[in-house]
Amino acid sequence: MLSYQHAYHAGNPADVLKHALWAEITQALAEKPKALNLYETHAGRGVYPLDEPTTQRGAEWEYGLGQLKLATLAGAYGQAVRALNPKGRLDVIPGSPAVALAALRANDHLHLCELHPTERAKLHSWARGKDTVHCHDVDGWIQVAALVKAGQRDGVLIDPSYELAEEYTAVVQTTQKIIAKNPAACVVVWLPILATGKGKGQHQKVIDALKAMNTQATFLAQWRWGERFAGFALQGTAMVVLNLPYGLEKTLSPLLEGYAAGLKLTRPAQTYTMIVPRK
Ligand code: SAM
Repeated sequence: MLSYQHAYHAGNPADVLKHALWAEITQALAEKPKALNLYETHAGRGVYPLDEPTTQRGAEWEYGLGQLKLATLAGAYGQAVRALNPKGRLDVIPGSPAVALAALRANDHLHLCELHPTERAKLHSWARGKDTVHCHDVDGWIQVAALVKAGQRDGVLIDPSYELAEEYTAVVQTTQKIIAKNPAACVVVWLPILATGKGKGQHQKVIDALKAMNTQATFLAQWRWGERFAGFALQGTAMVVLNLPYGLEKTLSPLLEGYAAGLKLTRPAQTYTMIVPRK
C-alpha cells in the first residue's frame, strides 16, 4: 500500500524535530575524516517546493517550519534550510535527503530508497547531477540492512509512514539487522505519537524494544503538542538514536529546546533522555 504522500505533511512540527536531529547527526558524523555512508530506508521526494499543489494541500508547514525565523534558525538544520532558500524566505522545504546532502563531503555517499512511482520520479529529478547521491528504487527495509557493513562509517534514517501496523515491527527488526551487521552504525528512527487508531501506544513499544537492544549511547527525544494543532492525527513525535555521535548528548537538548520554543511547545511537552548510556 503506497497511498501516503509526505508532501501533505512536509515541514510540520514532526518534520522539524526529525530533520533538526538528522541534520546535527549527519554533520557530526561527517566530522571524522573517514568516508561516510548515509542511508534512508524511506526517502520521499528530497525537497518540497511550496509552489507545488501537494505541498500546499496539507499546509502543515504553517504550524512547523513556517513558524520559525529562517535568518536565525540555529544549527545544521538552519544551514540546510537557508542553503535551499537563498532569497531569505521559505520557498522550498527540505526533505531528509536534502538535509543529509548538506553535510556530505565529496567522498561520502547518500543512499536513498523510495518505492512510490511519483515520489521516486521526483527524487530522481532532485538527485540528478549530484554525484554523492544514489537512488535505489527498491524496498528500503531490505536494501539498507543489506548495504551496511562492519568497519564502514554508516548512518541510517528509518522513516516509514506507518500506514501498516507491521511497520512498527519492521522498524525494530531492521534496526536489529543493521546493528548486528555493523555494531557501530548510527541508526535514527522516527516515530509518530498517536492518540487513536491502531497506532495508539505503538511508539512506546518500539522505544522499549530499541532500548532493550542495549546499544550504547541510545538517545530519545519526544515532543508532544496534544490537541494544539487542530486536524493533525499526530499528538506528538518521538525520535530514537542508537550510537549517538560523541558529544551530541550535551548540545542536542538546548538546540532542540530552541526549535520547540519557536513552535511554542512548553518544556514539559519535550523530553530528551539517554535511555542507554555511553560506554
Ligand atoms: N524521509 C522523508 C523526509 O523526511 O523527507 C519522508 C518519507 S515518508 C514519511 C515515507 C516514504 O516512504 C513515502 O514516500 C513512501 O512512498 C515511501 N515508502 C513506503 N514504503 C517503502 C519501502 N518499503 N521502501 C522504500 N520506500 C517506501
